[in-house]
Parts: sequence; structure tokens; C-alpha cells
Amino acid sequence: MLEVAVGLGAAAGMGLGALATYYPNAPLFGPVIGRGPRTGRSLYLTFDDGPNADATPAILDALERLSVPATFFMVGTHVLRFPALAERARNAGHEIGNHTTHHRKLHRLGPRPIHRELAGADRILRDRLGTTPRLFRAPHGYRNPWVTRSVDRLGYRVLGWTFGVWDSDPIPPAEIRRRVRRRLKPGAVILLHDGDGYDPAGDRRATAAALPGIIEDARQAGYEFRPVSELLAAG
Ligand SMILES: [Zn+2]
Repeated sequence: MLEVAVGLGAAAGMGLGALATYYPNAPLFGPVIGRGPRTGRSLYLTFDDGPNADATPAILDALERLSVPATFFMVGTHVLRFPALAERARNAGHEIGNHTTHHRKLHRLGPRPIHRELAGADRILRDRLGTTPRLFRAPHGYRNPWVTRSVDRLGYRVLGWTFGVWDSDPIPPAEIRRRVRRRLKPGAVILLHDGDGYDPAGDRRATAAALPGIIEDARQAGYEFRPVSELLAAG
């Protein structure tokens, strides 16, 4: 609960809207799926900011080898740069989500640029992958009422997350693995990164290297990785 406590402390004196802007699962700007069932032992893996030439193939390899489903929130311009990697993730049966066209921070933008960011990525995913993306995740989780409007217009559901482990920081794979292991709890939607939202050549190899150990730890603790689609059906 440390993240929540820090978030609330930082938001003291700010309005409710400001709090909702910076808290990724806040319901004020529309419903957000931030966690699965608290009973049982289900976990949901999500990867943001790809595709990425180094990390995404290694992550897809591990997921395939260990038979684990995941959700990839892709940046539109990265999909244009690495379409074969996006196709490979789709062909493996993973859920593909919209993470905007350019990974802009949406909370300070107005309705038109926000809709361009969402609709642009929507078009790229439909054209390049032939899929109908159903899930949206805002860069950094930052939202405002115009994001909600655009999400509704495009027919998306918003997926938040239960915890992240700051795997974008320059930390070794063993530390990423340790941080995930310590935070595991039933129904957790886990936020990891297979790319960098701004730099298509960003280095996320540490996350890829940590993934097999993350999966092993979770399974040893009795958890099972599930497709996020079952949360959509339930909600
Ligand atoms: Zn992102």
C-alpha cells in the first residue's frame, strides 16, 4: 500500500479531479479495471510501451515457452516501426491494447489532441494487425474527462494496474524479479515494460531477462497467469 499512501499524501490539498488524474485506477474519469478477483490465485501480466526490437522478442519467447498469456499496450508509432513484432504478439494470442499514438501525457491536453492520440493508435492497430483493440491504458495512467469521452467514443475499456515495480529504472533483472515477488497478491494486474514510450530504441532487456524468474516465483507461490479477457467478461 506504500504507493497508495504516497499518492494520497502527494495529493493532499489538491482537488479530487487532480487526485484522479494522477491515480491510475481512480474511477472519477470513468470505470477502470485495476485488479482481478481477490479470491483465487489469478495474476494478469501487462507490458507497456512496445514493441521494442530487443525486449519484445525475448518476452514473447518466454511467454510462449512457459505458456503464459499477457496484454501488450503498444505505442502507435512503435507499431509502425516494428510491425512484425506487433504481429507476432497478436499471432501468439496475446491481448493487444491501445497506449496512444505518441505516448503523450494526456492530462494537460484538450479534447481534439486527446482524441487524435487515441484514434490514431486505434487505426494503426486495426490496419496493421487486423484486430479490434478493446483495452486502453493512458501513458503514466494520466487521464482527464476528455480521455473518458474519447475512450467511450471508441468503445474501449480502461485497464489500470495493481502494482508496477519501476522496471524502467536502470535496475538489474534480479531486483525486478524480487520487487514483483514481494508484491504478488490475488488478482493483481502487474505492470511491466517491454519498451520505452518515447525512445523506440529504449533498453528493456532487464525486464525481459527477469520474466522467466517472475513466472517461476509466482507459480511456486501457487499463482496462475490468466488472460485479461476474463476480467472484461466479468465486468
Ligand atoms: Zn507507457
